[in-house]
Amino acid sequence: MLLREVEYARPSTIEEAVALLTEHDGARALAGGQTLVNVMKARAASPDVLVDLADLDELRTISFSADGGTLEIGAMVTCTALAASSEVEVARPVLAEVASTIADVQVRNRGTIGGNVCVSDPTNHFPPLLSALDASFTVRGAAGERVVPAGEFFVGVYMTAVGEGELLTKVSVPTRKPGTGDAMAGLTLGAHGTYVVSAAATVGPEGARVVIGCVSSTPVRATAMEERLAGGDYSQSAVKAAAEGLGATLEPPSDVHASADYRRALAEVSAVRAVLQAAERAKG
Ligand SMILES: Cc1cc2nc3c(=O)[nH]c(=O)nc-3n(C[C@H](O)[C@H](O)[C@H](O)COP(=O)(O)OP(=O)(O)OC[C@H]3O[C@@H](n4cnc5c(N)ncnc54)[C@H](O)[C@@H]3O)c2cc1C
Repeated sequence: MLLREVEYARPSTIEEAVALLTEHDGARALAGGQTLVNVMKARAASPDVLVDLADLDELRTISFSADGGTLEIGAMVTCTALAASSEVEVARPVLAEVASTIADVQVRNRGTIGGNVCVSDPTNHFPPLLSALDASFTVRGAAGERVVPAGEFFVGVYMTAVGEGELLTKVSVPTRKPGTGDAMAGLTLGAHGTYVVSAAATVGPEGARVVIGCVSSTPVRATAMEERLAGGDYSQSAVKAAAEGLGATLEPPSDVHASADYRRALAEVSAVRAVLQAAERAKG
């Protein structure tokens, strides 16, 4: 189906982009267009004005904070750029690893980290991964800038803390401390497909963070499992024991890909695999 007629703007500064989004009711940011253009074609969204972020070079940078403790990823950084970044490779290699598995080359070349999280699709890779990595999200609006922690960023399917007239400008991820490992596991639809169930884990001196995807409209922290792992025993039997009962705490959907019960079982298996791999990587 063809797109209906839509106004198009291509601002050259973030301020201009925010002004356009604020001034026009029904304006929508356009990043890589990989989801937005498809939902517009399907008439599931009909913005009147598209604000193309393509010329905002400052949203395409990957850098470190002044103290070196945070990796700062611009919202317009593509999966391809993440996968090739030496900064990411040093600071949080799991981001490059995961980015390189998403969909196909065309989608990775256009699709951005900002678009991926703003879609807040439970089957996407980045929402659970960034939640496990304790990322935070910088949102710019007419009233200024605010930083939203991952636990508050994802609100529902296609719903995030980014409000009308606002722009996600960057994703901040703590750099990996010594003795820390990260991993993502789960079942995908084909080698490069979206997830049926995912689990992302980080294991380090401060303990484990485990986040499950595709079992709710937003990523779910496996806090009971994290507490059981607090003693620091990451042997296979201890991790399996820690995951026991996790499935029963979840209320996943049933659909054509998996029943709710199968997703509960997958959540436990995926969480075990993610934690074991993260613990192995934490050894260095
Ligand atoms: C065939 C196909 C397969 C895919 N498979 C996977 C997969 O397996 N795993 C996976 O994780 N992803 C997958 N994706 C999603 C893809 O990786 C992109 O993340 C996604 O399509 C959105 O990114 P985009 O940059 O194209 O955003 P767009 O489509 O341009 O935008 C998406 C939404 O986010 C909003 N938005 C974008 N950027 C900002 C911003 N900076 N501030 C505020 N709002 C913003 C837009 O207004 C829009 O509502 C797939 C996509 C396709 C087309």
